[in-house]
Amino acid sequence: AASRAGGGIMRHFDFGLQAQSVRRNHLEVLLREAVQAQRFTLAYQPQIELRSGRITRAETLLRWRHPKLGTVGPSEFVPVAEDLGLMNELGSWVLEAACQQAALFLAKFGNSPSLAINISPTQLRDRKLYGLVASALERWNVPPSCIELEITEGLLLENTRQVIDTLQNLRKLGVEIAIDDFGTGYSSFAYLAHFPVDRIKIDQALVRAISSVKNGDAIIGAIINMAHALDIKVTAEGVETAAHARRLAELGCDEAQGYWFSRPLTAQALENALTPFSWEENPPP
Ligand code: C2E
Ligand code: MG
Ligand code: MG
Ligand code: MG
Repeated sequence: AASRAGGGIMRHFDFGLQAQSVRRNHLEVLLREAVQAQRFTLAYQPQIELRSGRITRAETLLRWRHPKLGTVGPSEFVPVAEDLGLMNELGSWVLEAACQQAALFLAKFGNSPSLAINISPTQLRDRKLYGLVASALERWNVPPSCIELEITEGLLLENTRQVIDTLQNLRKLGVEIAIDDFGTGYSSFAYLAHFPVDRIKIDQALVRAISSVKNGDAIIGAIINMAHALDIKVTAEGVETAAHARRLAELGCDEAQGYWFSRPLTAQALENALTPFSWEENPPP
């Protein structure tokens, strides 16, 4: 019967594809539950100022561990949350959690590394974003300089008045804006000159080009120089080797993030990493 009624479909039935769609359905159900119950944590990956070797910032990274599924990475569940229309809710949770953590660091150390929060496309398109950020900062009594928003460059190409207004207002408030994964899409310095941006994060694929592509380091150097000419700071992502870290420092890169310096940490581990540095800033009485 199978061969008469379009047997090709039966013979070529793709079990891999079916397994994928089963997992996807499963994820959707469990993710809805998890968002509702706020069953997430944040990891914090230090960003090191290359000139001083100090931790000046940390990127907040969503973590989800389900009792049955195990750990699911944000590269898998963030796009699902986007599709399900859950990203605004999840994003608000991240914003609150990050501000709460900054408030804890402020109470403990008198200062906080700037916490960089990833903002998804739907969050940035939402008119409520500015108000959400402003009220989270107020609720936790955290100065705007303690957080930073990372957005992807694709969004800037949309170039809508509303997105530009939101970014401009956030910056007026004192929240820094970083372009994430710079160099993976249609990166162009032409648009950077017109956008309210404080920092670019050079994508790890480009960082790897330092040693894997002929003249790779000259290319990175040119990007760093062009960014600086526009008064934009540069952070390198995915720095995994000492050689890359050293070369980036020589090329004038401002900050770096990657496994060479530190994996993403729990809040407690970040606090431990900050402790010696903070005693310098606030000597004990
Ligand atoms: P991203 O914002 O570009 O974050 C950097 C990713 O690179 C993180 O993966 C980090 O763990 C990983 N990474 C850091 N250093 C190294 C390194 O030296 N080598 C390698 N190979 N990888 C490194 P993670 O945590 O799995 O996050 C993946 C992506 O998920 C993020 O990319 C971001 O786009 C998204 N994401 C994570 N948290 C959030 C969030 O709170 N909101 C939104 N909207 N997206 C998030
Ligand atoms: Mg990021
Ligand atoms: Mg990135
Ligand atoms: Mg990325």
